[in-house]
Amino acid sequence: NDYGIKRLRYPSRTVKAPLDTSSLSVVRDPNKCILCGLCVRVCKEKQGIGVWDFKNRGSRTEIVAAMDQPLAESSCINCGQCIAVCPCGALTSNSSAIEEVWAAIRDPKKTVVCQIAPAPRAALGEEFGLGSVDVTGKIVAALRRIGFNKVFDTAFAADMTTVEESNEFLARLVKGENLPLFTSCCPGWVKYAEEFHPELLNNLSSCRSPQQMFGSVLKKKYSKDLGIAPEDMFVVSIMPCTAKKYEARRPEFMTEGSYDVDAVLTTVEAARMFREAGIIFDALEDSEFDQPMQQTTGSGVLFGTTGGVMESVVRYVAGKLLNAEGRVDVEFTRGMEDTKIASINVGDNKLTLAVVNGLAAAEELIKKIQSGELTVHAVEVMACPGGCVGGGGQPFQNDGERR
Ligand code: SF4
Repeated sequence: NDYGIKRLRYPSRTVKAPLDTSSLSVVRDPNKCILCGLCVRVCKEKQGIGVWDFKNRGSRTEIVAAMDQPLAESSCINCGQCIAVCPCGALTSNSSAIEEVWAAIRDPKKTVVCQIAPAPRAALGEEFGLGSVDVTGKIVAALRRIGFNKVFDTAFAADMTTVEESNEFLARLVKGENLPLFTSCCPGWVKYAEEFHPELLNNLSSCRSPQQMFGSVLKKKYSKDLGIAPEDMFVVSIMPCTAKKYEARRPEFMTEGSYDVDAVLTTVEAARMFREAGIIFDALEDSEFDQPMQQTTGSGVLFGTTGGVMESVVRYVAGKLLNAEGRVDVEFTRGMEDTKIASINVGDNKLTLAVVNGLAAAEELIKKIQSGELTVHAVEVMACPGGCVGGGGQPFQNDGERR
């Protein structure tokens, strides 16, 4: 503007293609795409979703005109890994929840309740320049400051998931049915399984993810404790994950006509709200989660990274259900490798367990299981690299690298 230049475009780029806002998780702006192909590459190489091509991702006007397909109608699993690698903002998370949350906070009739997942905690410290430290106390303080009435820890619901899933696993072991058990708390993986492996759906755990368990507890139980109608409670989740936006809108997660989770903010979107409110993050005094759902175990926090669900379930199965004596070694679950497999002794039982992150790795594992090359009792699948800490809603640098 200082030089009187308002717009500079090549003549062939003057046609403006519409934004694709069909997806609950990802917004595509074809006008910004430079056809670098990074989104297609991450989708194919990491997630193995070979049916995608440029037509389903950020692509330039001419290509979109020829091969347009709304993201919501594609095989997109909503993981948002394309957002993390897009160098020019052609792919961004669908941030419509921000305005919905502000509107609920401004509405005097609404009690606005927040749950925050384990993975955003250190990430928000990095986002606000405090390094890789746990800033949970500051996040809780910031959420109260911007107007949330209650703030809870999703790790509480992760503990519930551990208990439910462990009981389900044990029951299947006893009956020898629907093994291996596949975890079901990653909505990206669940959508992939529904589309590409419907034959495995009976093997998926029937347990809700921690986000949805907590949403249900808040709407059905906690609203009664507060003496308010469920429709007067507005439940918000802060997640590292764009796919959680899609999960929250699945029809099975409605109670009496309303969603158990009303809005999902990614880590980046929560940071944006703090900035919009003028919060000086590093100056905040720590605050604590609300009672009565404040107590959590270390297992609940492990859900934020690859191997965490498996470690939690095996610990619970070993300690509470099989009465195994001594320490059960589940260290194989740790580390960032795509695939980790080990056989461990739990009491008198020998269990073979697998942990995968990235759906390309999951696909390879499934082939081995289905061909009989590998026999396993349980499989943890997370779509994102390293699990939820590497989710598509986490902060990333402009070069696409995670902080
Ligand atoms: Fe979301 Fe975690 Fe699954 Fe990634 S791995 S899609 S962050 S639930």
